[in-house]
Amino acid sequence: MAADNLLQKDRPAIEVRNLCKNFGDNEVLKGIDFHVDQGEVVCVIGPSGSGKSTLLRCVNRLEEPTSGTVLVEGVDITDPETDLDKIRTRIGMVFQQFNLFPHLSVLRNLTLAQQRAKKRSKAEAEEIARKNLEKVGLGNRENAYPAQLSGGQQQRVAIARALSMNPDMMLFDEPTSALDPELVGDVLGVMRQLADEGMTMMVVTHEMGFAREVGDRVVFMDGGVVVEQGDPKEVLGNPQHARTQAFLSKVL
Ligand code: ADP
Ligand code: MG
Repeated sequence: MAADNLLQKDRPAIEVRNLCKNFGDNEVLKGIDFHVDQGEVVCVIGPSGSGKSTLLRCVNRLEEPTSGTVLVEGVDITDPETDLDKIRTRIGMVFQQFNLFPHLSVLRNLTLAQQRAKKRSKAEAEEIARKNLEKVGLGNRENAYPAQLSGGQQQRVAIARALSMNPDMMLFDEPTSALDPELVGDVLGVMRQLADEGMTMMVVTHEMGFAREVGDRVVFMDGGVVVEQGDPKEVLGNPQHARTQAFLSKVL
């Protein structure tokens, strides 16, 4: 068991090899090689339509890869033998739209999946939920309903909900893109804190400041391929490819 755990920790959290994804005739991912090491924060940037969300969604098979390999902690998620539900409980997902259950209180939003998928008791689930609400700065809002919260608060609830499943890694797909500008900072602050605590993170984002300061690596995608990647300060400050330069000149 201990040896097994040790081996797992040596593997990348996420490893994608030659991943292709077509939607009909539309070749959206054209042979992507991509990885996220344990404890690493990888920010994925690139123009709209470049395939960032599709890549992220292939990691837990919300999209079915057309070809290629996706390994999560060394386990091939496209293998029919793989227990997908089990793998998915290790991966926390946060989307642009917060996807909270509108008819449930904040606390219930956080306990539901814990009780169903993790088989935790109500008391245990609530204890974990409260700890995570505290962590995202919403310890006093457990009885609120999503509609009573700001977008930034709702997104922090969504992060707390994902954390309550004790994931090994977190995937964020433009978590601040739907927020009013004054609410972005609080959400990025929570994400920065998670990164500081050593969480493994894949973050699709247009927040270049976050990518530069918090990212261990930046991956620039365009047209379904990885064009350039590396140290954030290098990629953002001294991009080597014309496509990266063109993109950054628009967003920076
Ligand atoms: P990004 O997140 O970088 O903006 P996406 O991965 O969302 O890019 O989309 C890449 C391309 O894939 C786009 O052309 C988009 O229209 C197409 N696409 C994404 N999801 C679907 C889908 N479910 N069905 C058909 N086409 C899709
Ligand atoms: Mg997207």
